[in-house]
Amino acid sequence: TVANLWAFADDRPDRPAVRAGDRELTYAGLRDRIARTAASLAGLGVHEGDRVIFVAPSIPEFVITYYGLQTLGATAITMNVMSTKPEIEYVLDDSGASLVIAWHECADTARHGAESAGIPFLEVGPYEEAADLPDPVSSYVDRSDDDVSVILYTSGTTGRPKGAALTVGNINACPVAFRQLMEVTADDRWATGLPLFHVFGQAIVMNSALSQGCTLSLISPFEPTAFLELLRDQEITIACGVPTMWNAMLHVAQGYSADDFHALRLAGSGGAALPAEVIRSFEEQFGCVILEGYGLTETSGAATFHDVSGSPVVGTVGPSLPGTQVEVRDPDGQVVDADVVGEIFVKGPTVMKEYWNRPDATAAELTDGWFKTGDLGAVDTAGNVRIVDRVKDLIIRGGYNVYPREVEEVLYTHPDIVEVAVVGVPDDHYGEEIAAVITPRPGATIDPARLRDWAKERLSAYKVPRIVQTVDALPKGATGKILKRAIDREGLRQVA
Ligand code: ATP
Repeated sequence: TVANLWAFADDRPDRPAVRAGDRELTYAGLRDRIARTAASLAGLGVHEGDRVIFVAPSIPEFVITYYGLQTLGATAITMNVMSTKPEIEYVLDDSGASLVIAWHECADTARHGAESAGIPFLEVGPYEEAADLPDPVSSYVDRSDDDVSVILYTSGTTGRPKGAALTVGNINACPVAFRQLMEVTADDRWATGLPLFHVFGQAIVMNSALSQGCTLSLISPFEPTAFLELLRDQEITIACGVPTMWNAMLHVAQGYSADDFHALRLAGSGGAALPAEVIRSFEEQFGCVILEGYGLTETSGAATFHDVSGSPVVGTVGPSLPGTQVEVRDPDGQVVDADVVGEIFVKGPTVMKEYWNRPDATAAELTDGWFKTGDLGAVDTAGNVRIVDRVKDLIIRGGYNVYPREVEEVLYTHPDIVEVAVVGVPDDHYGEEIAAVITPRPGATIDPARLRDWAKERLSAYKVPRIVQTVDALPKGATGKILKRAIDREGLRQVA
């Protein structure tokens, strides 16, 4: 990825590389800043193999610093701008990082974390104001495929966060796969509102776009109307996001027509289930195919994706990436037949090397190269993977398995529902009861009894949510995914 980026600065120096608002860096300009930043970091004592924590929003300075670290062969540990001081202290301790870098507008917490751990801290400001950077380094460190390129911490629903150690080989495998599957050329213009600290924005979008000489437009934070305008005004060809973003765009899309997005040839969705209703409405409204992929931080963001030249099978996340294998296993570890639901295991070039510093967790989840995903799904005879749900989100009501996603898919077809999360709530009689937390369409009111009647016509009785709660907004993580673990189950029990 770094090698390509350097080469593009020679081959197409004036081509825009990164855009954000009215700021733009060409490939030559980007490489110059990356190489100067690398020189500056080297001056601070950063060497090949050093681990460096980096906290910044999705702005050009993220891109510059990230590749500055890669240029030196250092390992970047990118963290959420909302990280708290204890979270930063934890990651500092766990990773053994030797430097903390943060964007000036969100530097305080990171600085305090670094100070209390006695680790050097560097604040980064706008590149236009960085007048005193040293002369650029003349080249990049050529690392081996097995070297750790980034460590990305998963938030860890239970226990301590774990750092997925992604190697140079893992990181390079993503753009190679997406170039083929999305038929990417250097003329593509990508846009995303994803945070770059997370694997989707970073390993899939940023690296795919910039290692292939494309233009990458960033918007931070994501805002649906501004994003639509960006797609239209910059004639974006590839847009990437999580399902809540496509859904949010649909709800502000009146006044735009498919003609406004004539250049858009592909919308790439991932990170969470994309409701069929959102796919249907999106394609109708925007005249553009929306393709879904599946992956985790531990698989460098990607394990499956559709081939843009093929005919995507709706309801699936496509086949495994080239060179990647997907297996579905039963609870005894036996591989099941086609179309049978079990836990998904993935093996291939994007699967992480290990959890940093955590041989116990690595041994539990990575065996002979096969990564245990914690997701339930099935593979059809043509190799298309269907994600059913997360193992931990499965609801067991009165002995019956209820997959929240199936209930959500139905509720998304209700005209007054904008967003919905279905979760299990502890119940004395049934063990768990099904609850739907709903954001209604503005101006609409959801009557729980009528909604249950409506749902009964479309779902088996035992799958109908008994508890219905409307909220102004569902809790979301930094990527924009609905954060089910942040839903107050006890509060829902009271609603019941
Ligand atoms: P964290 O581990 O940080 O708490 P997370 O579990 O969301 O957050 P990620 O690595 O960001 O971790 O996301 C991976 C998970 O996202 C997968 O295990 C899967 O449950 C879900 N996911 C990703 N893509 C899809 C998809 N296309 N359909 C359904 N679920 C998906």
